[in-house]
Parts: sequence; C-alpha cells; structure tokens
Amino acid sequence: MTAFDVAVIGAGLVGSAIARLLGGARLRTVLIEARADVGDGTSKANTAILHTGFDATPGTLEARLVARGYRLLREYAEATGIPVERTGALLVAWTPPELATLPALRDKAERNGYTDCAIVDARQVYSTVPDLAPGALGGLTVPGESITCTWTTNLALATDAVNRGVTLLRGHRVTAVHADGALTRLGTDRGEIGARWVVNAAGLGADTVDRLFGHERFTVTPRRGELIVFDKLARPMAPLIVLPVPSKVGKGVLISPTIYGNVMLGPTAEDLDDRTATGTSEAGLRFLRDRGAALMPGLLREEVTATYAGLRAAIGADDYLIDVSARQRYALIGGVRSTGLTASMAIAEHVVTLLAGHLDVAPRPELPPAPRMPNLGEAFPRPYQDIAAIAGDGEYGRIVCFCERVTRGEIRDALQSVIPPVTVDGLRRRTRAMNGRCQGFYCGAEVAGSLR
Ligand SMILES: Cc1cc2nc3c(=O)[nH]c(=O)nc-3n(C[C@H](O)[C@H](O)[C@H](O)COP(=O)(O)OP(=O)(O)OC[C@H]3O[C@@H](n4cnc5c(N)ncnc54)[C@H](O)[C@@H]3O)c2cc1C
Repeated sequence: MTAFDVAVIGAGLVGSAIARLLGGARLRTVLIEARADVGDGTSKANTAILHTGFDATPGTLEARLVARGYRLLREYAEATGIPVERTGALLVAWTPPELATLPALRDKAERNGYTDCAIVDARQVYSTVPDLAPGALGGLTVPGESITCTWTTNLALATDAVNRGVTLLRGHRVTAVHADGALTRLGTDRGEIGARWVVNAAGLGADTVDRLFGHERFTVTPRRGELIVFDKLARPMAPLIVLPVPSKVGKGVLISPTIYGNVMLGPTAEDLDDRTATGTSEAGLRFLRDRGAALMPGLLREEVTATYAGLRAAIGADDYLIDVSARQRYALIGGVRSTGLTASMAIAEHVVTLLAGHLDVAPRPELPPAPRMPNLGEAFPRPYQDIAAIAGDGEYGRIVCFCERVTRGEIRDALQSVIPPVTVDGLRRRTRAMNGRCQGFYCGAEVAGSLR
C-alpha cells in the first residue's frame, strides 16, 4: 500500500485547488477521484460565472471566500490562459417591490466590500439590453461579474497539481476508512491508499465520506439546476449577464452569455433525492421557457443548441461547512453549493491555512510554472485563426468540429496532455469538439475515433 502525507478525495474544482496548493509544499499528496476524469461532477455543469460576491450574505465564510476567490481566480486565469470575459451583470427589477429592493442590494454589496454597483433607471436598462421584455422598471449594475470556462479552470488546477508532483488517481472511489495508528487507510474499489491526513472534497458525496469517518452532521440534498443553451446567433441579445432580483426562494433564473459565444437561460432550483439525476426534465425546461418568454421573448425564437443540468450540493445551511479535526487528521469541505467555481482557490487557501498547524504546508522554492491552457473562449484567438500556428503545424489548420471550429491539432494536444481525456465527453471539455449546434452529428465519429 502506498502511503502519502495527504489524500484529497474528489477532483472537482475544490479538491483540485486544494491538491494544487498542497502539491506546492514538501508533502506527498494524492488526489483521488471516483470518476474517470477530473471535473466530471458538479464542476462540469454550472453557469460558469465568476461572482464578485456582491449578493452573498455578509459576514459568512462563503462571502469572504467568494470575494477572495474572485481575485485569486482572475489572477490565475491570466497566468494560465483560462478565458474570462468581464461582461458585467445587470440585475433587473420588474415590479415596484423589486425596484424598492435595489438600494438594499447595493448596501449589501458594499457590506461585502463590493462598491461598484450603481442603480440605473429603465431607460438605462433598455439601452444596455434592448431585447429585454417591456416592463423593466430599473436595475442595479454589477460591473465586475464575469463569465469563464469551468472546464478549463478545473483542468488547469488539476494539471498544476500533477505538475507539482501530486499523484492523481482517477477511477478510484473511496468506500471505506480505517484509522491505523498514524495512518488512515482509505479503501477504494481499486485497492487501499494510506495517508497521514485526509481532505474530504467529495462534493455531492461529502456526507457519505464524512460518515465513513464516523460523523453524522449533515446530509447533502442535490439541488438540480437545469439550463438551456441557445445558438451563437443569439449572442448579441445578451451583451451581459441579466439577473433577476433574488427572492427568499433563491437567486432565480438568469440570462447569460457563455464564454463559448452562446447564450444560456437558467438555472432552475429543485431539491431531489437522487444524486445521479443530472438529466433535464420536461417540467424544468417548460418552466425555463416560460421564464425566458417573460424576460426576453426574442430569445425563445432562437435555436436551442443544448440543455443540461447540474446538481448543487446543498446541506440545509446558508454557509460552507469547513472543519478540521486534528484528532482524526481529517478536513471536511461541505456545502459548497452555488459559488464553488469562484471560491475554489480561496477555499483551498483557507483549508491549507487550517492545516498549517499540523503539516508543513510552506511552499517549496522553484515550483514549476503554472500550466498554459488551450483557449476555449470565443472572444480570444483560437488555433484555426492563428496563421503562425498553422504555418508551424498544419494540424491547427485541419478542422474536425466545424460548429465550434476545433482542429485536429487541438484534439491531438488534448490527448497528449498531462491529464488526457479517456471519454468523448472529456475530450469535449478540453477542446469544445461536439459542443456546437450539431452536437457531434457530423464530427462525433471522428472525435470518438481519435480516442482509440
Ligand atoms: C446549476 C449550477 C450553477 C452553478 N453556477 C455557478 C457559478 O456560476 N459560479 C460559481 O462560482 N459556482 C457555480 N456553481 C457551483 C459550483 O459548480 C460548485 O460549487 C462546484 O463545482 C463544487 O465543486 P466541488 O469540487 O466541491 O464538487 P464536485 O465538482 O462535485 O467534485 C467532487 C468530486 O468528488 C468525487 N467524489 C465523490 N465521492 C467520492 C468518493 N467516495 N471517492 C472519490 N471521489 C469522490 C466526485 O466524483 C466529484 O468529481 C453552480 C452549480 C450548479 C449546479
């Protein structure tokens, strides 16, 4: 049995960010993922907004870590090439009570340390988003809200971790925990792994793993969010993120441009029992179409490219649940529901600070540089547009996926990367191949063939 200093369970955004930081210390770290790929759980299916944290509940750990994570991820995105577009957001009030809420929302943003919000009138709302349905009364601008690529972010963090010496084990589900003196033995479906410390970043599975450590302190309720993705021709209708005024029920349905040049409408919020229910539903899509028709009728006349759903790991509390047990040499990260993309790097920083009293987490000198990620963002140059790249390597001039203009060179690079994909979906998340309006009808066979 291989023994590590730290085992991190779960290679979503949170676990990958933690493994990356631990990998920078003098620690033997293993990142254990049940699925065949990193970022294949909740982290692959969100709305990919880099939140400023303007609307978080002031004073919570979540509020602090979202604001910090926003800054950390923006800097990291610059270093690694994760695409980010600072589109800004406009929160729109449709009723007099909603309009009356705007000053309180601006004050809340300021209590969260975000001072850039401004209240605008209906004329300014329509000059910013002319395609909105009639009836908007005013709005609140949030210029810092940004869109990004959750797939590239997760992959960059995990790649960075591996480059720093972290052992990544995919396809290893932790099913048992045995305390054995100074070592914890983690039973997986592919053998045992020993570690002095264990970090539970298992997302939807965090309560199950927590119970393996003998706790009975929370239950994850999967809260499904369904989304509709519209064709790229709809993109001019959504120049920025259009938010509703949040209610007691939640943040509500938004319209947002995507980093790939589409427009999305969603998400829904529906508590389920089934942690695998990532399919969309007739009722969910009907609800979204009704909301969409009320917000921006023209959007519904555009073609739908795809629909998808993600499951938030809700735990019945309004904050993250982060706890370190020195006795068990165990750290839990639970309840990272709807802000974990933004907060991931700050959660990692927070957890590593908590571990500092127990482990030598000081960064090693001369760490490898952050990986430079392939750009999947529509607003930034891609290989098929890069004459110099094509002149140097003809494979960047050979398009495989015509909807998303993905070249053979990019597919080859993904297959040869530090964490290569093992499924067609994994290849899609690394390249955008099959992500377009034909959903792989034309290129599917060739893309799948490249994995053989
Ligand atoms: C609809 C929706 C919209 C969202 N929008 C945004 C947004 O715009 N901005 C934002 O910042 N956040 C957003 N989020 C939240 C964000 O996506 C999550 O907070 C984040 O992905 C959580 O990451 P994670 O690493 O905790 O979980 P996950 O990505 O689920 O990772 C946990 C991993 O642990 C693995 N695992 C579980 N059990 C075991 C086990 N026993 N052994 C080994 N591995 C195990 C799983 O396979 C999984 O890969 C949204 C979420 C949803 C659902």
